[in-house]
Amino acid sequence: MAKQWDVVIIGGGLSGLVGANCLTQSQLSVLVIEKGKKFGGRARTDSINNQLFNIGPHALYKKGEAKSILEQLGIELHGKSPKLGGLLIDEKVKYSAPFNPIGVFTTCFFNWKERMQWIKALVKILNTKTDSISQQSFLQWVEGVSSSKSVQTVLLSLGRLATYCHAPAHVSAKVIVTQLKAVMSGVIYLDGGWQSMIDQLYNKALMKGTEVRSHQTVKQILPMFSEKDTAFDITLANGESISTRNIISTTGPRELLKMLGEYAPSVMKDFFAQMEPVKGATLDVALTKLPDPSKLFALGIHAPLYYSVHSTYAQLSEHSNNVILHVYKYLQPDELVEAKSVQLELEQFLETIQPGWKQYEITSRFIPYITVNERLPLVGDELRLESSKPAVPGLYLSGDWTSPYSILSEAAVSSAQQAAIGIIQKEKS
Ligand SMILES: Cc1cc2nc3c(=O)[nH]c(=O)nc-3n(C[C@H](O)[C@H](O)[C@H](O)COP(=O)(O)OP(=O)(O)OC[C@H]3O[C@@H](n4cnc5c(N)ncnc54)[C@H](O)[C@@H]3O)c2cc1C
Repeated sequence: MAKQWDVVIIGGGLSGLVGANCLTQSQLSVLVIEKGKKFGGRARTDSINNQLFNIGPHALYKKGEAKSILEQLGIELHGKSPKLGGLLIDEKVKYSAPFNPIGVFTTCFFNWKERMQWIKALVKILNTKTDSISQQSFLQWVEGVSSSKSVQTVLLSLGRLATYCHAPAHVSAKVIVTQLKAVMSGVIYLDGGWQSMIDQLYNKALMKGTEVRSHQTVKQILPMFSEKDTAFDITLANGESISTRNIISTTGPRELLKMLGEYAPSVMKDFFAQMEPVKGATLDVALTKLPDPSKLFALGIHAPLYYSVHSTYAQLSEHSNNVILHVYKYLQPDELVEAKSVQLELEQFLETIQPGWKQYEITSRFIPYITVNERLPLVGDELRLESSKPAVPGLYLSGDWTSPYSILSEAAVSSAQQAAIGIIQKEKS
C-alpha cells in the first residue's frame, strides 16, 4: 500500500516552509512539494555575479506578525533598519521627504498649513481603528484625512510603498492602513537577503523530519469524500499519485482552481477566478560605488516609482563596498507593460538620483512584470474570503492572498500558521 501522508504542503515558498515548521511539533507526517528547482518562491534571493538580489525590494516589518511568528519558530533575522527620510521626486524636481521630523519641517513640497495637515495625517494612521474603515477604499480614506492635494498625494505614495498596491480607488482602506501602521514602526533589510530566512526554515523543517521534493508540480487534487473524513489523491505532473489526509495549498488562486478542476466549490470558483494580482516591474542593480552616497531612498510622487539602497543596511555582497539597490515601478491592475520603455523609465529615475551610475555597474537584472501579491485586496474581499475558505474539509489555504486582513509576507506567514493550527486541532479531535 502506498503511504498516506498526514499533510502535503503544495508549494515551498515562504508560506509553505512556515507551514511545515509550524507542524514539526505535531508528530504528523509532512511532505512539501515545490515545482521550482529551488525552494523559496518569491522570497528567494538569487546570487548574480556574487551579488545577492532579492526578487525586487524586500523589507520585513519590524513589528509585524510575520517577524514575530518567524522568531517563535527560532528563525534568526539579522539586518538593519533603513533610516527614515530620503527624497520625493516630482518630474525631475527633488524634495526632502516628510518621513522624519527634519523632513517634515524642511520639505518644500508642503507649505506650513500642509505640514500641519501632514502631521495630523500621520497621527491619524496610527490612531485609526481599522475595523471602522472596512467598507472604504483607500482613496476615500485618504480624501477624508486631508483636503490638501499635496498631502493626499504623499499619503497615496506611502500607501504604495507599504503595500505595492497601485489602485487606491479599489483597494481596501482597512488592509492598506493596517500595513501602513506596520511600516511606520520600521522595517528591516535582511543580511544575506530573504534567502537567509528561507534557508533556516528549510533546514529546520528537514531536521525535524519534514520530507521535501523540489522540481515536481502538482497537477490535480482529487478530494475523496467519505462519511468519516475527507482524504485526497494528489497527482503530480510525472503521473505519480500521492495520498494525504490534509493539504495546505500555498499556490495562487488560479493555480488552485486548476488543480481542483470540477471539484472546486462554486463559492471558490467565482471569487478566486476574479482575483487580480498586484504586479510590478523591478530593476535590481549592483554597483562598485554610489555616485552620490547621501541619496539612499526616494519615492516618485506622481510617477509610481521607488528607489532604495539596501546594502547600506544589509550584507548583500562579499565586498562590503559594493552597493545593491532596487528601483521599482508599481503597476496598476491591467496595466500593459512595454518592457523596454519601463526599463528605460527605471534607469532614468535612477539617473535622476544617481547621475552616472552606469559607469559603476557590476551587474543588473530587470524583471518587467512580476507578481508581488497574488490578490489585490479589494473592498469587500474580507467577507468573501472568510466564507469561501472552509469549503473543502481537510483542504487549507495559505499564502499572501488568503488572509482577509493582511497581504505580502504578513499574510503568507500568518495564514500558514493558521492552517497548521487548524490541521493540528482537526487531527486531535
Ligand atoms: C518585487 C517584490 C517585492 C516584494 N516586497 C515585499 C516586501 O517588501 N515585504 C513583504 O512582506 N513582502 C514582499 N513581497 C511579497 C513576498 O515576497 C510574498 O508575499 C511571499 O514571498 C509569498 O510567499 P508565498 O509562499 O505565499 O508564495 P510564493 O512565494 O509564490 O510560493 C508559492 C510556491 O508554490 C509553488 N507552486 C505553485 N504551484 C505549484 C504546483 N502546482 N505544484 C508545486 N508547487 C507549486 C511555487 O513555485 C512557489 O515556490 C514582494 C514580492 C515581490 C515579487
